[in-house]
Amino acid sequence: MSGSAVRVQGLWKRFGQQVAVGGIDLELPAGKFIGLVGPNGAGKTTTLSMVTGLLRPDQGSVEVVGHDVWRDPAEVKARIGVLPEGLRLFERLSGRELLGYTGRLRGLPGTEVDKRATQLLDVLDLSGAQHKLVVDYSTGMRKKIGLAAALLHNPEVLFLDEPFEGVDPVSAQTIRGVLERYTASGATVVFSSHVMELVESLCDWVAVMAAGRIRATGTLAEVRGEAASLQEAFLELVGAGGRDAGSDLDWLGGGAR
Ligand code: ATP
Repeated sequence: MSGSAVRVQGLWKRFGQQVAVGGIDLELPAGKFIGLVGPNGAGKTTTLSMVTGLLRPDQGSVEVVGHDVWRDPAEVKARIGVLPEGLRLFERLSGRELLGYTGRLRGLPGTEVDKRATQLLDVLDLSGAQHKLVVDYSTGMRKKIGLAAALLHNPEVLFLDEPFEGVDPVSAQTIRGVLERYTASGATVVFSSHVMELVESLCDWVAVMAAGRIRATGTLAEVRGEAASLQEAFLELVGAGGRDAGSDLDWLGGGAR
């Protein structure tokens, strides 16, 4: 796959007085493992929601694999998988039933859904919990079943909002393995995170966002530049490089009340 997976032009979203996304242009290359990074409140979730057709922009256009998200939503939704933040799942289904239902919604034949579901449950280490209700799943298990549901129809682009949040290191390694295998086959992953070490170890391409704007884009090496780590480059880009967060808290510690 070559060209752009996502092309965003002049994208705006305001919530009352609050500008969540302030007129961004963004082009994400296909076939890459892409990190959308930024501090809390930077606008990452709002951007991903608009790019995946979950939230209507005030202004601007979004194309995913060459199709306009808002003019051609069915075409786009058939080609993408989404693991949104605060994932809402059908709690009263078992993990296996959830995948069966998702597969049929995606128009896959039953036998194919069964085959893929069995493989995904196995690879994601959920086989033992496949008949348990989703409501009884742990945070990490919910992320994994959400990921399985997002991958079931073999999308061209996978969008993940904070996929590793609340996930233990073993499950994180499993998720990571699945995503690496998926991008190695030419698919695109776009994930948002504020954990720089994770982005640095996983991604080959990064977009840095702060206060509703894109501050830098490019390969990991381009964005890192002269800095020793992505974390350092990130702090410089978002303007927090020199701040000593502890200097105002002179009452904290030392036992005095
Ligand atoms: P985090 O890393 O903390 O999840 P983020 O980069 O995903 O942050 P967003 O959730 O996109 O940031 O929020 C961007 C800004 O828009 C924030 O100031 C937030 O308060 C505001 N915002 C987001 N959604 C809404 C909403 N539904 N109503 C009002 N304000 C909102």
